[in-house]
Amino acid sequence: MTKICVIGTGYVGLVTGSCFADLGNTVACLDVDDTRISKLKNGVMPIYEPGLEQLVSQNVRAGRLSFTTEYSEALKETEIAFIAVGTPSGSDGEADLQYVRSAAESIADLVDDPIIIVNKSTVPVGTGDWVADVVRKRRGGKALEFHVVSNPEFLREGSAINDFMNPDRVVLGSTEREAANKVAQLYLTLRCPIVITDLRTAEMIKYASNAFLATRISFINEIGNICEELGADVCEVARGMGLDKRIGPSFLDAGLGWGGSCFPKDVKALAHMAVLHGTQPQLLQAVMEINRNQRRRVIVKLRKALGGLNDREIGILGLAFKPNTDDMREAPAVEVIHLLQNEGAHVKAYDPQAMENAGQMFPRLTLCSNPYEVADGVDALVLTTEWNEFKQLDFDRIRGLMRQPVIIDGRNLWDGERLRAQGFNYYGIGRGNHL
Ligand code: NAD
Repeated sequence: MTKICVIGTGYVGLVTGSCFADLGNTVACLDVDDTRISKLKNGVMPIYEPGLEQLVSQNVRAGRLSFTTEYSEALKETEIAFIAVGTPSGSDGEADLQYVRSAAESIADLVDDPIIIVNKSTVPVGTGDWVADVVRKRRGGKALEFHVVSNPEFLREGSAINDFMNPDRVVLGSTEREAANKVAQLYLTLRCPIVITDLRTAEMIKYASNAFLATRISFINEIGNICEELGADVCEVARGMGLDKRIGPSFLDAGLGWGGSCFPKDVKALAHMAVLHGTQPQLLQAVMEINRNQRRRVIVKLRKALGGLNDREIGILGLAFKPNTDDMREAPAVEVIHLLQNEGAHVKAYDPQAMENAGQMFPRLTLCSNPYEVADGVDALVLTTEWNEFKQLDFDRIRGLMRQPVIIDGRNLWDGERLRAQGFNYYGIGRGNHL
């Protein structure tokens, strides 16, 4: 049993804290956001993540998990402090480290016993050394025995608990092997490969992994765009490619592209690091550009299908950047809605979890309570997130409700042939029936 403090209770911090508590450790989760902490103290989850509420309440009841806004309370007797605060994009695409700095300074101010500081946030290569420097400078002459370990997180929103408990690997980087070994102990029961390396390599593994996954999606989208012109079907192409063991099937779904709180900012931050150090990240630039264009292509399709967008009614199914989350950060739907509203379209939308976030983001968006309300009176329906509940809709009913039967399936979720037979003008992404 280790006494742990997790700083930041967002998607990563809250899941990390609850999972470590579930594995038998004593965990104090800390956040500077009062509302978030008082919600958690009352058993209310500040984010939607399947299974989280139960995991939190179980471990709070067992006395292994607590929440606070007080650093002094959270850091009391802590052996390992995980920094899991946000690292959003700065104005040039660089990762903004102000929250990491503030967390590191608080540790330096309040801790006198030996401690391991773990960077779980995704941070630029070199940040581990920088955090050590921040702590040393803040202490002035006051001695503190501490080591910094990089432990990037690979969980996915929507399946975060399962990903944390069943990781493909755990990556640890440190200048001090003993410190990395101590953190490794926390993961031993998960029985997964543990890669122990130096700080900078561990930090780079996270960026390279996210950039590679984003590259696969942009790659298949580029292939899809070519398929569309040449009359091939990208879904079949991806299947045919993915069966090759050297390629594999995952992250080969053509559609509206990648979004969320990680891929966009991490690819941007990696490209920024590259430029800053005199290398030319041409592939990363192309990966980002293809992704931007992918959303615009939907607008072009709609404009062509409807002969213009001004005063047209458009229905959007799905707002979160992917299913099983309420997170709308950099979601494709956000840009699609912006572009549609800019061209004078009236937009209605429904999402199983992201309605509250959407309402705050788009005051002019009409929020509906189910897919049929969205379909009612629209000129076109656009699928932007492939939630399970959109897989089996009553399309005869939808056809009867819509003003014009145009469907843009931004996730290639539905059977185009069937929908065409039911009277829809159906357009997928990269499926050889381009507008
Ligand atoms: P988030 O925005 O959901 O949560 C960050 C939390 O940190 C917020 O609650 C905020 O109030 C808190 N915070 C900010 N400054 C603080 C401070 N000084 N002290 C205490 N708390 C503070 O962020 P997230 O999605 O959990 O991401 C955290 C980090 O993990 C990022 O670097 C991200 O890139 C990385 N990451 C995220 C995911 C993901 O799926 N969300 C996956 C892997 C890695």
